[in-house]
Amino acid sequence: MDYNLLKTQAQAKQANLVTVRRDLHQIPEFGLDLPNTLARVLKEVGHLGEVTLGKNMTAAAVLIKGSQPGPTVLLRADMDALAVNEDTGLDFSSTNGYMHACGHDLHMAIGVGAAQLIAENKDQLKGNVVMFFQPGEEGHDGAGVMLSQDMHLVSGDKPIAAFGIHVFSMDDPGVFASRKGTMMASAGDVIVTLKGKGGHGSMPWNAVDPITGLIEILSSIQSFIIKHFDALDPIVLNVGWIKAGNDHTTNIVPETASFGATVRSFSKQGYEDTRTKIPAFIKNMAAAFGLEAEIEFSPATKVLVNDHDAIDRVERMVKTVFGEDRYENMDQPIPGGEDMASILEEIPGAFIFLSAADPNLPMEKRQANHSNKAVFDDSVLADGATMLAALAFDALDEASSK
Ligand SMILES: [Zn+2]
Ligand SMILES: [Zn+2]
Repeated sequence: MDYNLLKTQAQAKQANLVTVRRDLHQIPEFGLDLPNTLARVLKEVGHLGEVTLGKNMTAAAVLIKGSQPGPTVLLRADMDALAVNEDTGLDFSSTNGYMHACGHDLHMAIGVGAAQLIAENKDQLKGNVVMFFQPGEEGHDGAGVMLSQDMHLVSGDKPIAAFGIHVFSMDDPGVFASRKGTMMASAGDVIVTLKGKGGHGSMPWNAVDPITGLIEILSSIQSFIIKHFDALDPIVLNVGWIKAGNDHTTNIVPETASFGATVRSFSKQGYEDTRTKIPAFIKNMAAAFGLEAEIEFSPATKVLVNDHDAIDRVERMVKTVFGEDRYENMDQPIPGGEDMASILEEIPGAFIFLSAADPNLPMEKRQANHSNKAVFDDSVLADGATMLAALAFDALDEASSK
């Protein structure tokens, strides 16, 4: 494969990829049901291969078969937006109460470009590529649902490798970054409800006050975590809301008080420990105050673990195709969660960050992914597409030479 030619072919698509990305940016949809989004994507790639649609959700697996037989590589682009009102001032801003604040509109355009590059060069493709257009990344387990419907098996074989790209809005455009092993955390929620006994505020001893118990639990839970979790395999538990009582009155002891927190861990052990040690602590603390505790963990994303060989391939290909200075090895994992982890648990592969901040924005004005003011530079689309396509060609080339 001539990767310089691939890069030139991608550059020729750049203007169209920007159009695709900006069209998608204006029609953001939420969760697992993204009919307009998927229709726009399939308008670009539906004719390039065999399309398998998801059941009871909008997902597509596009299978592109090479002229030469061989194994399969999976490439993944996620498609869902967030429930946030856009305030970027861009002339292609969304206005429907949702926003592509995590850059998934760029991922789709990159996926479209990669699919087109692969189809155009399929005479040199030694196997198959399955392009995953996935809904519901933002807490809806879209990847897990696609896997449960066997959409990764549409070629008849389990893929030998999987790759996906995620853009970020804080660094100057163009650098690819990743790392071997753990790259992202398991992320999930815990909702805790403490149940006491309601009563008159003048006589709290005749009631069982859940508010005091809640305060004591929250004031000591971080100390508990420090002393009971491995400092070299840390967890994050951050309380996002608390609820108790009624702001119309002060003379009532409410029956219940509750809080919700996000919980992050970086290993299987850490994940399991959060599910056993945290509930035991809360239950014991609640019991000390005469309260019952109901503790509910949401399904969490898995810890995202990159395959070592796949990262070697990513590093080599970025340096070969774009130059030495375009690859950055991440020293540490990040505490964000990502359901690509489910795909990488099933298929060895790599997740790759691609920085895409608007270089014209001064540093202090740049806002993180998920912000209502997050801005992404779509000049990276052709390079992202080149990278995904190059990884597929390279992995299949290597497999055929074995
Ligand atoms: Zn996100
Ligand atoms: Zn995302």
